[in-house]
Amino acid sequence: MRPRPLIRAPTLRRRVIGLGREVARAYAGRAPTLLVLMDGAFCFAADLVRATPLDEIRLCFRRASSYRGTTSTGVVDLEAMPELRDAHVLVVDDILDTGRTLAAAVAASRAAGATTVSTCVLLDKPTRRVPEGLARADFTGFTIPDAFVVGYGLDHDGRWRGLPEICVIDPH
Ligand code: IMP
Ligand code: MG
Repeated sequence: MRPRPLIRAPTLRRRVIGLGREVARAYAGRAPTLLVLMDGAFCFAADLVRATPLDEIRLCFRRASSYRGTTSTGVVDLEAMPELRDAHVLVVDDILDTGRTLAAAVAASRAAGATTVSTCVLLDKPTRRVPEGLARADFTGFTIPDAFVVGYGLDHDGRWRGLPEICVIDPH
C-alpha cells in the first residue's frame, strides 16, 4: 500500500501562506495563542506560524487522540489545558473529521478561561461529521473527500508522518 499523492508540496506551501495571511488579518491588534493539537498538527503549525506576519504569537502544544489505525474510537483523549485566562485561542489541528476532537478542544479552551476561541485546520472531510462534533472550522486549508490521508504530519499508526505531501492510503 504505497501512499498516493493528493496535495503536492508546492500547493500545500501556497495555501499555508494564504492561511497565515488570513489569520494575521483576523488577529490584528490581539496576539493569538495557538493551541496546537499534537502529534498530527506539528508540521502544519510550524509552517503556519512562519506564514503569519504578527509580532506576537503565543504557542502551546497539547496531545489529542481518538484514532486507532484508520478508525475513530469516538472518545477524545485530550491532555490537560494550560491557564488560558484572557487568551485569544486559535486551536490548530491537522484535519477536521468527525469534529469531536475540535469540539473537545474548544470546550476545554473555554473552560480554561479563554476570551475568544477559534479554530484552524489544514484539511476538512465534511462528509464525516457527527452531530456532536464541531460543524466547521473558522480557517480551513483544503476540503477533501472521505479518504484516509497521511503525510505532512499525519500518520497511520505512527507511519508516514514525514512525507512532504498529503497522500491517500488504502489501509486494506
Ligand atoms: P475527529 O475528532 O474525528 O475530527 O478527528 C480528528 C483527528 O483524527 C485528527 O486530529 C487526526 O489526528 C485524526 N484523523 C482523522 N482523519 C485522519 C486521516 O485521514 N489521517 C490521519 N489522521 C486522521
Ligand atoms: Mg489529531
